Amino acid sequence: TADSKTSLRIAIQKSGRLTDKTIELLKGIGLRFDDYKRNLMVKCRNFDVELLLIRDDDIPEYVQDGVCDLGFVGANVTAETGADVSVLRGLDYGVCRLSLAARKDGDIQQLEDFEGKTIATSYPRLTRRFLENNNIANTNIVTISGAVEIAPRLEVADAICDLVSTGNTLKANGLEELEVILESETQLIQTNKKLSPGKKKLIEKFLIRMDSHQQAERSRYIMMNAPESAVPKIKEIIPSLNSPTVMPLADDHMVAIHTVIPIDQFWIVMERLKEEGATGIVILPIESMIL
Ligand code: ATP
Ligand code: MG
Repeated sequence: TADSKTSLRIAIQKSGRLTDKTIELLKGIGLRFDDYKRNLMVKCRNFDVELLLIRDDDIPEYVQDGVCDLGFVGANVTAETGADVSVLRGLDYGVCRLSLAARKDGDIQQLEDFEGKTIATSYPRLTRRFLENNNIANTNIVTISGAVEIAPRLEVADAICDLVSTGNTLKANGLEELEVILESETQLIQTNKKLSPGKKKLIEKFLIRMDSHQQAERSRYIMMNAPESAVPKIKEIIPSLNSPTVMPLADDHMVAIHTVIPIDQFWIVMERLKEEGATGIVILPIESMIL
């Protein structure tokens, strides 16, 4: 198993929707690799990590069996395989949902209508479980590995259960999303096999880096000038982690205010700051943040 070596072995998708984002994340936390596109296994140059680049379908089982210690994979895949792994973190990319869909204006309009129908999917386990839990016992589930959305047009199936993000693919194929059966995102999963103390330490270090990076990505450093009299109001507006830094300016009664804000509140905060007389507002990205 991977545990007999000291390097942390991490499974990532070799080539697909998650690959670039995952590599970007690993580079973002300071890991350096060469030539990850051409090899199955890549050693990190400056951290005790090696990457195994495989099909996403195989990742949960590799992690379950301890062949890899960690893996980056969609929650949808882990759920479908039913692998025994621990989810360490949910990540904000690869966001999608697994949904039942049928021909727009066809004879399947609601959940009950799926009774007795043929459903094409790459997720037979999750599909069957969902239908059974909803007391739809008689369906014919056909497993196809790709291009599920064309199955109804080919008359291979009456309906499908497939991943949806924008819904454009469904629309383009004359299908309508009827029921969401799973909300998914990329997850960092860990093996439940026993890990050596050395590896546990490495995972801890890896997580600290990841969390600092995620926190930094979700935050911005904000600087502005404001009348001194507006400082109490501005302090109320800013949802800052710490008390903001307030510095006097050469101009009488004016101060500079520096702080960190969560990115999702950026526009609301910005508008209110302007109302309070803040000027010269500058927003900067943050490289990393240790809380
Ligand atoms: P592989 O060759 O590795 O098996 P794949 O074809 O199964 O690749 P991709 O299409 O690259 O997989 O998708 C990888 C993951 O991206 C999905 O399992 C899912 O978690 C996520 N994802 C996000 N949005 C979508 C979407 N609209 N359609 C499909 N997958 C999506
Ligand atoms: Mg796959």
